[in-house]
Amino acid sequence: MTDVEGASAPGYDTEPMPAKIPWLPATLQPGARPEPCRRCGRKALIPWTLRRDDRSKQVLRTWVCTECQTTEERPEPE
Ligand SMILES: [Zn+2]
Repeated sequence: MTDVEGASAPGYDTEPMPAKIPWLPATLQPGARPEPCRRCGRKALIPWTLRRDDRSKQVLRTWVCTECQTTEERPEPE
């Protein structure tokens, strides 16, 4: 049992993992009103994307910190 080389796992290294989040803002946008980030403490947390929760029908806003890329969901007032 010395035949280690030549062993291969078919289909193992063909596809890269797809990214779930295509883009994260890395800089503050003009007119943004950033809030303090809970994780890094910098004033860099900005509103990002909206989604509606299927169960509660609540609109949720994802906030993202442009400094440390932390994301946080908050209910969005309608
Ligand atoms: Zn942060």
